Amino acid sequence: MKKLYYFDYNATTPLHSEVLDAMMPYLKDRYGNPSSSHIFGRETRAAVEKAREMVAKILGADPSEIVFTSCGSESNNLALKGLFSAHCKAKNHIITSSIEHPAILSTCSFLEESGYKVTYLPVDGNGRISLSKLKESITEKTLLISIMHGNNEIGVLQPIAEIGEIAREKEVFFHTDAVQTTGKIHIDVNQIKVDLLSLSAHKFYGPKGIGALYIRKGTEMHSIIHGGHQEKNRRAGTENVAGIAGLGMACEIAMRDMDKEFKHLITLKEKLCNGLMKKIPKIRINCSFENCMPNTLNVGFLAIEGESLLINLDLKGIAVSTGSACSSGSVEPSHVLKAIGVPVEYIQGSIRFSIGRFTTSEDTDYLFEVLPPIVERLRSMSPLWDDKQ
Ligand SMILES: *Cc1c(COP(=O)(O)O)cnc(C)c1O
Repeated sequence: MKKLYYFDYNATTPLHSEVLDAMMPYLKDRYGNPSSSHIFGRETRAAVEKAREMVAKILGADPSEIVFTSCGSESNNLALKGLFSAHCKAKNHIITSSIEHPAILSTCSFLEESGYKVTYLPVDGNGRISLSKLKESITEKTLLISIMHGNNEIGVLQPIAEIGEIAREKEVFFHTDAVQTTGKIHIDVNQIKVDLLSLSAHKFYGPKGIGALYIRKGTEMHSIIHGGHQEKNRRAGTENVAGIAGLGMACEIAMRDMDKEFKHLITLKEKLCNGLMKKIPKIRINCSFENCMPNTLNVGFLAIEGESLLINLDLKGIAVSTGSACSSGSVEPSHVLKAIGVPVEYIQGSIRFSIGRFTTSEDTDYLFEVLPPIVERLRSMSPLWDDKQ
């Protein structure tokens, strides 16, 4: 089989072998329902509670504050709908940003259709919100601020500790979508003063189909999935035991390896960025190194269609992404790149490279060998490309 080169870790990550090992017993012999009182149920209950401790630990939370969900999208839905539902219409205003993941933006549109008010904060050229604009937007009707931690497309990190400070001072709830940062960057829910935090296992070497929502003790929430009494009535449905065990192990591995991984990623990202700038003219780096995830590099190539570039790289066994993973296939330029003001000549030809623990220096060397001639060829065929540029 031809070797493949994966530069799309923000879409999803491979399962870590230790995670698979932790899951296997619950896919085979240990099939009990954790709600059952017999031995079969007790052993899977123990696995669920052990994993809950690990998730709590990586966030600096208490295990009772962790609710397992089916994915990051569900965690985001639960955070917003569950909170608003519990607080009726006394407060009907939410503040978010214009560069959130679709799981937040679509939930906000849904809430707007139901009569809630949403403020979408703009961002600067690096993708950061303005704290003074945030303060100005808070009214006596504001129930929640939902601002993501790390952006999936450009990697920008928001000043969440400062946002948490403002939310606490104004007595507004604060939710953060930390799906991209959990397991990659240190998070302490008490230090950032967050009330709700979403995470998802498959973005940090865990399995797909399992996520969690941190809910600060005392936060009144309604369930959005009704049924049995699982998760202390906060999320009905028989637990995905193997997935939960996998998420727990993914957290353990992340806590053990985070610092080492961070160095590995930032070194490779720098190499990737410098290499591309050296080898290919007329490119634009759509992200920064400051306040940015160590694994995400978004690059605009002048006068090229991102989709053509993606397909040509795919033919060479290299996987990248244009726009967000969830909207690829659509030709609408990414809402994130628009929000940070990427010029039109670069926006269509923007590619996200996202690396991870299994990316090697040789992978980037292969990219440096393959990419420049593709770019040159596509540009030579492009009506937007002028040789004199
Ligand atoms: C991937 C992602 C999600 C959605 O998580 P799923 O588990 O795939 O539903 C939400 N927010 C961000 C920032 C993401 O990157």
